[in-house]
Order: sequence, then C-alpha cells, then structure tokens
Amino acid sequence: MDFHSFNLHENVLTGIDSMGYNNPTPVQQQAIPIILEQKDLVACAQTGTGKTAAYLLPLIDRISHANYDHTSTLILVPTRELAKQIDEQVEGFGYFASVSSIAIYGGSKGGDWDQQKRALTTGADIIIATPGRLMAHMAMGYVKLDKLNHLVLDEADKMLDMGFMDDLLKIIQQLPKERQTLLFSATMPKKIRDLAQQILQNPSEVNLAISKPAAGIDQRLYLAYDNQKLPLLEHLLQEQEVQSMIVFTSRKSNVNQIVRSLRKMGFEAEGIQSDMTQEERERALQGFKNKQYQILVATDILSRGIDIDSLSHVVNFDMPQDAEDYVHRVGRTARAASTGVAITFVNEKDMHRVQKVERLIERDLPKLPLPEDFGPGPAYDPTKRHDSRGGGRHGGGGSRTHGGAGGGQRRNDRSKGPRDRQRGGGKNTEPTERSQQQPAAQAEGQSQERVPRKHNNRNRNRNRNKSRDRDNSAGSTPQGGEQQNS
Ligand code: AMP
Repeated sequence: MDFHSFNLHENVLTGIDSMGYNNPTPVQQQAIPIILEQKDLVACAQTGTGKTAAYLLPLIDRISHANYDHTSTLILVPTRELAKQIDEQVEGFGYFASVSSIAIYGGSKGGDWDQQKRALTTGADIIIATPGRLMAHMAMGYVKLDKLNHLVLDEADKMLDMGFMDDLLKIIQQLPKERQTLLFSATMPKKIRDLAQQILQNPSEVNLAISKPAAGIDQRLYLAYDNQKLPLLEHLLQEQEVQSMIVFTSRKSNVNQIVRSLRKMGFEAEGIQSDMTQEERERALQGFKNKQYQILVATDILSRGIDIDSLSHVVNFDMPQDAEDYVHRVGRTARAASTGVAITFVNEKDMHRVQKVERLIERDLPKLPLPEDFGPGPAYDPTKRHDSRGGGRHGGGGSRTHGGAGGGQRRNDRSKGPRDRQRGGGKNTEPTERSQQQPAAQAEGQSQERVPRKHNNRNRNRNRNKSRDRDNSAGSTPQGGEQQNS
C-alpha cells in the first residue's frame, strides 16, 4: 500500500514526498480512510507509530479541498514540545497545500502573549494548543472557533493525567456541536473511554497493538545497585556504538547529577526537566536534535510525544513507576520501523515493576549480567518488595536520599579522571524532592505551554503556485514579521 491509494489531494502527496515518507504505517493505513470519510475516530496508538501524520494528512487533504475561510481545525495537546512538533509537521505536509498553523503554548514572557494574541486574531487553518493557554486566550474573546470543523485530542491520556480534563471540557463546550472529533491516546483507561463517549459521535475505532514497543527495539535489563549505574552507563557508552542517547530518570533531582557525571567522564551531555525555563529546555532539546550533545538526560516530560530522529539508544536509569511509562520511554527509539536499543537499569527496589512491564508488553525482557569487573549486582527476585531498611555494602537501599543517581560513589577505578572533553558544571539549580512528587500538571505548571515558534498569518490567498523550492528557514509559511523568541 502506498499513499496514492488514499486518493489524497496532489498537494498533500507532494508534501508527503517532500517529507520522505514512502509507505503508510499501520495506524495511517487504518485511520486515514476513516478520517477522510469525516467520521469520528478513537485511535489507540502510541507515539512512534506515525499517529501524527495519521490525522494530519487527511485533515490537510480536507482543508485543501474545502478551502475554508476560517480556522477549521483545533488540535489539543498536553505539552508545548508536542505542539511545536506537530506545528513543524503541518509546515512540512501542508507546505504545498499552503495550509497554515499556529502553535499556542504557555510561556513566561509578557511579549509572548501579545504575539499569540496577534496570531490568533489573524487566524490560521489549524490551531495547535495546550489547553490552559488556549483557555486563557479564549477568555479574551478574540479566538474564533465558532466555525470549527475538526477537533483532535492528541495524547488524550496524557492530557487527563496532567489534569486538563476541566479545561478540555470547557473548550469543547464552546465549539460547534457539528464537527468531526478525533481522539488519539496511547492507552485506553476507563476515563478516556468516558471522555470519548461524551464528546464523540458514533466513533470508529482503531486499536493498534497497544502498549507494545515497536518490534525493532532491542530491549535489555541490567540488575544493578544504584552505585553501579553510572559506571555501567559509562561502560555501555564505551562498548556500544552510540549515536544519540536519551537517559531517562524518574527523578528531577537526578538529572543534573547524571549530566555532571557524564561530562566528567568526557561525554557531551545536557539535561532537560520541568524545572528548567522554557528557553533552557528548548536550547537543550534543539542542541540534542542538532547533534551538539550525544546524550540527553531527561525526566518523563520527554517520554511521550516528542519526536527525535535517529535515536540509537534509550537508557532507563531507573525503572519507570508505571509500566506504560516504560513503553513511552523506550518508544523514543526505533521510531517508524528503524532499530534501536533500550536498556533499563533495575535496582533491588524496582524489581517488582519488571513483571508488570513484561505482562504489559507480553514478552520477557532479557536480564543481562553486569560486566565482569563490576562485581555482583542484586539477584533477580521480582516477588520481593524492597526492605527500606536495607542498604548493605552496595549502598543500594538508601542512596536516594542523596539524590539517587549513585553519582558520587564510583565502585572501582574506572574512568576516574575527567577526559579531554570535560566541561564545566551544570547550570541548572537542583530541584527539590518535594517538587518531584507533585502531580505532573502541578510539577510542570505553566511551563507546559509556551509561545509559538512561528506565526503563520492567515492567508486566504495562500499562494497555491508556490515554487517547489522549499524555504529552509524556520518558517516556510508567511511569518507576519512578528516572531521571535530570543
Ligand atoms: P509519531 O508517532 O507521529 O510521533 O511519528 C513517529 C515518527 O515516524 C516521526 O519521526 C515521523 O516523522 C515518522 N513517520 C511517521 N509516518 C511515517 C511514514 N509513513 N514513513 C516514514 N516515517 C514516518
């Protein structure tokens, strides 16, 4: 099957070609015809399956044919990173069809608000927004959604996890009842089904073998005490051909510590977590995408929805709290049928979580022995809950009180000295444990949302004869001259 079989507008097909897509992924094969028929859809598809194009392509096709003179499409997303990523994809797929988009997300600078206000006043074919920030603009009266035709909720489960349910319902109440609604979610807990029932009409369903990492991912576990984790990470970085790696940790307080240790080992590493300012996060993410850093250390804020190409390795520095988070984390690699390696470090406290993951993904994860000179790691016993009084000579039991990265306690003389690429210490302040335990919406606060990267002016004379030469600058659609984030 190729994209021609969907009978898409030729401008959309040109956009698909320019993005280098040859064949639709399974979720695209299933969802595109349903969306083209203008039916409502509930799709259970995790990130990495090509879900974004699964809804963007038929919607851009629709916009190309219908030639609406109003904002026809609203895409609600949980995070600013996802909003930006979708905006970039609209720019790619929609270039030849001259489809315009605005990304609306929270920011800290007063000027951002005004930029967004101007962009929303001018309008665009597609608005991609985080719910909180959109609500704030809607309250001011200049957001025109009264003729909306298509609503997409992307990563609906994450939006609910982040506490956006009320905002979502308030926004949806203000939209026309006659519309097409598409709900994409990586998981389908009852609360998502309930939401779907409330806001969709007679939806079709697409269910992709949910919660199983893509087949191309080589998944491995190492059983290791906390103080063995950093040496093990270093060992892996030395042994394996690592083009780009994300190291996930559940704890914000670990991020800076791991980054500092990696830098001391001589690796180019940067951290990203929700306490960082918008600019810091953006810089770190962009630097990683541009291959300025080989390693990005991140909390779960990055595990869903963020599209980073050519990621060769994902390391779970600790076992995620939820089995589904494991799937999201390892889903950062092996995207769209490429291959990747996902390595998880499991300490004696987290072993009971392994079985949950294995049950969810319906396969056993290989538990590899530690390298020879590491000494013994903890024995695998998934039935045993951790005894909090533990500790022992490996320091596994109590090390979290000191940040938990196990950073300070190198167990042997491996890589003692900094190498020639050593860089200065981290610039970020160390967040507190308390903030780590806050629910996501609280912990990330307004920082989930931020200013649009570009402002695509509404342009009903959208130049349909645009040259095929792509403008490689950040905004290939009209900018309205009112950019820019510094
Ligand atoms: P998503 O699940 O939407 O986050 O997409 C995951 C990745 O797969 C992104 O890098 C997309 O650009 C890429 N992708 C999506 N669909 C295709 C396709 N049909 N062919 C090649 N790459 C794709």
